[in-house]
Amino acid sequence: MAQEVRGVIAPGKDEPVRVETIVVPDPGPGEAVVRVQACGVCHTDLHYKQGGITDEFPFLLGHEAAGVVETVGDGVTDVAPGDFVILNWRAVCGRCRACLRGRPWYCFDTHNAEQKMTLANTGQELSPALGIGAFAEKTLVAAGQCTKVDPAVSPAVAGLLGCGVMAGIGAAINTGNVGRGDTVAVIGCGGVGDAAIAGSHLAGAARIIAVDIDDRKLETARTMGATHTVNSTKADPVEAIRDLTGGFGADVVIEAVGRPETYQQAFYARDLAGTVVLVGVPTPEMKLELPLLDVFGRGGALKSSWYGDCLPSRDFPMLIDLHLQGRLNLDAFVTETIRIDEVEKAFERMHHGDVLRSVVVL
Ligand SMILES: [Zn+2]
Ligand SMILES: [Zn+2]
Repeated sequence: MAQEVRGVIAPGKDEPVRVETIVVPDPGPGEAVVRVQACGVCHTDLHYKQGGITDEFPFLLGHEAAGVVETVGDGVTDVAPGDFVILNWRAVCGRCRACLRGRPWYCFDTHNAEQKMTLANTGQELSPALGIGAFAEKTLVAAGQCTKVDPAVSPAVAGLLGCGVMAGIGAAINTGNVGRGDTVAVIGCGGVGDAAIAGSHLAGAARIIAVDIDDRKLETARTMGATHTVNSTKADPVEAIRDLTGGFGADVVIEAVGRPETYQQAFYARDLAGTVVLVGVPTPEMKLELPLLDVFGRGGALKSSWYGDCLPSRDFPMLIDLHLQGRLNLDAFVTETIRIDEVEKAFERMHHGDVLRSVVVL
């Protein structure tokens, strides 16, 4: 039987979000219905609401979520009702060229649910954010979007690994390959940047330099593992990073803003043959200008990190275990917990830089 539950809808471009009754169908083959316990508020949800991603309104927002599998469709064997899971937006296909080459984190054909959830009053089909749609009491996803983790972790914390925190940690440990003794600089200390700092700390970086324009954020960055901080409104970040690394520049610089100016800073703040990782998300009109001779002459690697190059089945359970062992402080990312009808307010607080993450608890 299809079920009616409450969900947060973005009805049209720049219109305020609102809680509506939605219809969640029974899971078909390869699908699962998940009872959502917690879902973090991410910038991407705001971008959907602003029409910055697609214009397929109405959206069912929310995608950084954890919950319990309620029912599964035919042929689902990896998860079962009662399993505690983090939802992911990289349910790999196992058959595309990337998967067959043994690089499933680049999968070109990731799975989402085939059936659509709908608005109860109009029957209109909903577009779930990142194929998840988890600001809702229940949601329908592809079973591969459910990654089982240790249920000892709190859902509010676990859900954050489903997107932004994984993107940041993965930018450091997967894309940037940060290792013991490396020097790392992270430009931009929101949720993703702080996660990159936590990931660098976890990987054994010797020196972690946090760069931001807001002293409050730099203070938080220290609690995540930053050993040094630079306020880039008061000091030139490239000079400061070089000064803090014996004049060389950092081995890995992670750009977590997504702007040409900060990318240039990252480019010049790394040591020769160092690595730049772009994990901040730019907008379509942005252009980058760099002397090609510097790109050649400075060597090294310029990489981009989508979702932290994560493989959910590999990375989520591992990071939850490290958290439960006290080696990765994920609690620090949850600034506040809110109700399902407070998402609009949470967008405002996020916009003003007042929170790392607001998390809707259901
Ligand atoms: Zn694939
Ligand atoms: Zn997100």
